[in-house]
Amino acid sequence: MRVVDLIEKKKHGEVLTAEEIDFIIQGYTNGTVPDYQMSAFLMTVYFEGMNNEETANLTTSFVDSGDKVDLSAIKGIKVDKHSTGGVGDKISLIVVPLVASVGIPVAKMSGRGLGHTGGTIDKLESIPGFKVELSNEEFINNVNTYKMAIVGQSANLTPADKKIYALRDVTATVDSIPLIASSIMGKKIASGADAIVLDVKLGSGAFMKSLEEAKKLARTMVDIGKSLNRDTIAVITNMNQPLGYEVGNANEIKEAIEVLKGNGAEDETTVALTIASYMSVLGGAFKDFDGAYEHMTELIHSGKAVAKLKELIEIQGGDPEVVDNPELLPQAKNHIEVKSIKSGYVTSFDTEDIGITAMLLGAGRMTKEDKIDYAAGITLKKKIGDPVEVDDVLCILHTNNENWDDAYEKVIGAFHIGKDKPEKEKYIYEIVK
Ligand code: URA
Repeated sequence: MRVVDLIEKKKHGEVLTAEEIDFIIQGYTNGTVPDYQMSAFLMTVYFEGMNNEETANLTTSFVDSGDKVDLSAIKGIKVDKHSTGGVGDKISLIVVPLVASVGIPVAKMSGRGLGHTGGTIDKLESIPGFKVELSNEEFINNVNTYKMAIVGQSANLTPADKKIYALRDVTATVDSIPLIASSIMGKKIASGADAIVLDVKLGSGAFMKSLEEAKKLARTMVDIGKSLNRDTIAVITNMNQPLGYEVGNANEIKEAIEVLKGNGAEDETTVALTIASYMSVLGGAFKDFDGAYEHMTELIHSGKAVAKLKELIEIQGGDPEVVDNPELLPQAKNHIEVKSIKSGYVTSFDTEDIGITAMLLGAGRMTKEDKIDYAAGITLKKKIGDPVEVDDVLCILHTNNENWDDAYEKVIGAFHIGKDKPEKEKYIYEIVK
């Protein structure tokens, strides 16, 4: 088999076999296929697409390129969730304790942030003492005993995806549905869960900018999951503005605590309850979504949900006091108010620019080697539909940097203010089963 012939075949819109796809993927992972051939292959996939079977085969090749996590020592149906990436997305921090509270095991492997999107692992590391690396035995024991654990992804999980994702980033081939779907589902399947709830983000801060595209991505991922015997549901959610009011690391932990105490923003609370409810249904704790949603809401109001988060922090070595005293979380030296120069209503956001602002303040990484400032971030004071007067505070920047000019300029451009009050944003667009 020659890679050039396979690129030629895809270039003419033909369907590749499982063996052909695997030949390219494993060859690239072990270094026998060079970057220039993989780049050409990715671009042909970008333009020619892949059918469902090819996309499922590509997913399997990603899974086979590295370690497969064995969760068989954990009792029950293991349920996982994944977001396609957003700004202010702290949903995992909220749903893990909620779902664990109803006895469904959540053995969560999460990633770090890169570029404008944050990562759950960085957020958790802002809690003093919290360990994101557990031995295999501790991980399994914690899930069996407490029904939850969150750790960083093992270094050798889908190495093909890691290498290809880095190449996609510099060859303009990220926003391809078969490539995104196989990248995400490969990681989820290698992580060992039995059932998966996908949070497919749609809007100005997401890869998917139209409902049609988001539905297609959701359907592709759900079909891959099902074809590989994983019960999978996708929830298409709004990313036209950051979720909730906080973007960063420590401040997102603070906001997740507030959601679990029942004081969360409506968008964040609704999305978290929806995802946690579908996870609980797939895990077998409830027959129907409405019953699950009602129970999850009750867990928040009774204080059980926040107590479970406290337990998660404690069993992973973190300081559980942060739940009652969030000021124990890292605090920035500088807090800069960003004021409006216009009046009207917030009509929309360049959400990606809010994520980039957080990164400029120190909350994210431009390269994998960058160090994170856990205290850095943004508190939004206005969201879509809110009225604004001249000099009203739009948001507050938190940073330990001494210069924030670039961040200020970026964030002020991310708020769009117009005369007419926009329609209320939907939080959930569609469920794909
Ligand atoms: N997230 C991933 O893990 N992979 C993609 O391709 C896009 C988003």
